Amino acid sequence: MNKIKMTTPLVEMDGDEMTRILWAGIKEKLLLPFVDLNTEYYDLGLTNRDRTDDRVTIDAANAIKKYGVGVKCATITPNAQRVEEYKLKEMWKSPNGTIRAILDGTVFRAPVVVKGISPSVSTWKKPITIARHAYGDIYKNTEMRVDAGSKAELVVTDPNGNERRQTIHDFTGGGVVMGMHNTDASIASFARSCFNYALSVGQDLWFSTKDTISKTYDHRFKDIFVEIFEAEYKTAFEKAGIEYFYTLIDDAVARVIRSQGGFIWACKNYDGDVMSDMIATAFGSLAMMTSVLVSPDGKYEYEAAHGTVTRHYYRHLKGEPTSTNSVATIFAWSGALRKRAELDGLNDLKAFSDRLEQATLGTIESGIMTNDLVSLSSLPQKRGVGSMEFLDAVAQRIAEI
Ligand code: NAP
Ligand code: MG
Repeated sequence: MNKIKMTTPLVEMDGDEMTRILWAGIKEKLLLPFVDLNTEYYDLGLTNRDRTDDRVTIDAANAIKKYGVGVKCATITPNAQRVEEYKLKEMWKSPNGTIRAILDGTVFRAPVVVKGISPSVSTWKKPITIARHAYGDIYKNTEMRVDAGSKAELVVTDPNGNERRQTIHDFTGGGVVMGMHNTDASIASFARSCFNYALSVGQDLWFSTKDTISKTYDHRFKDIFVEIFEAEYKTAFEKAGIEYFYTLIDDAVARVIRSQGGFIWACKNYDGDVMSDMIATAFGSLAMMTSVLVSPDGKYEYEAAHGTVTRHYYRHLKGEPTSTNSVATIFAWSGALRKRAELDGLNDLKAFSDRLEQATLGTIESGIMTNDLVSLSSLPQKRGVGSMEFLDAVAQRIAEI
């Protein structure tokens, strides 16, 4: 059989623990037999990050900047216990944080929807993608407890030394006070990432804040979005037959619940934190959530939303069988290959990405699934299988389609 050719390298970032095992299995069983894989490989496994003083993470992020598309395996973000376990030189920063800082991107999380596993919200037929602004607001705040009788003020000093001062509150009793910020540049990057991603997947974009209450802060978000939309994206949206739509966060929540899905919901940092967990849980399982980092200049990094599944890995090391769900990692690969195919005009690679996804969903819909899905699935005939057994079943289907 002739393998499918690639023209531009895909940036491949290997990772840790159980997902590293799945990564190798996916390549061996689902990709290499069909595609003449052209990847530039970066080993982001913790051992190699430590060996390279984390240089490898920075190199990988720069490679995504150069080539435009990357696919990443889940990685350990070290804590004190990991420093001990891996005898690390330092408590290296989260690779996702490092990559996001270099690409200046926004993370889009979308569930993989499969027959037999119905969302808790019965009207939802298509995935809902959450885009979370990942900078500022309460995540970069300053806050204090305040004693009775205190006066809290907001003071801003401009570059010429001029002060602006507003009273926040005169406290008769004790209380709390908080200061937070965002920047026009970060909000604009967020907006462009959202508009690019909506065009890339051909879905409507919703954006919601609380600008009726926060008439300056949240209103700034609303203004920046609409200004960029009108100036840079309106025509492209019309051509693609999709819509940009702004509404209040509480109205958005009500509409989301009544909707059939199939759109992107952009949220401020805190709203996105909360709503993404709600959406993920309502769609079924963290193991079925995919994640794409999109930069404002249109670079893409695909991955699974879950971690390295440490508990399963320790079982694997003891030689015990595992049943770890590889769906989100498979969809990270199919998403990255499809994007590469679109950018390079490779129709057979695009068709293969579709085939890989169809075979994965078809396997689950035929009743073969990992144990985490068995309890969620309403199929009458279903069978929980091991991590590699699932990949073998998908491989067989790819060959049959
Ligand atoms: P996790 O790896 O997502 O796993 C938490 C639990 O969720 C698992 O023990 C398992 O439950 C279930 N689960 C998650 N993914 C699954 C899958 N694919 N198939 C079946 N079950 C799955 O989160 P964690 O244990 O909190 O974190 C482990 C490591 O991952 C940490 O070192 C963390 O730093 C890292 N992490 C990395 C990323 C990333 O690279 N994007 C994201 C999050 C966490 P049961 O054990 O009950 O089966
Ligand atoms: Mg959260």
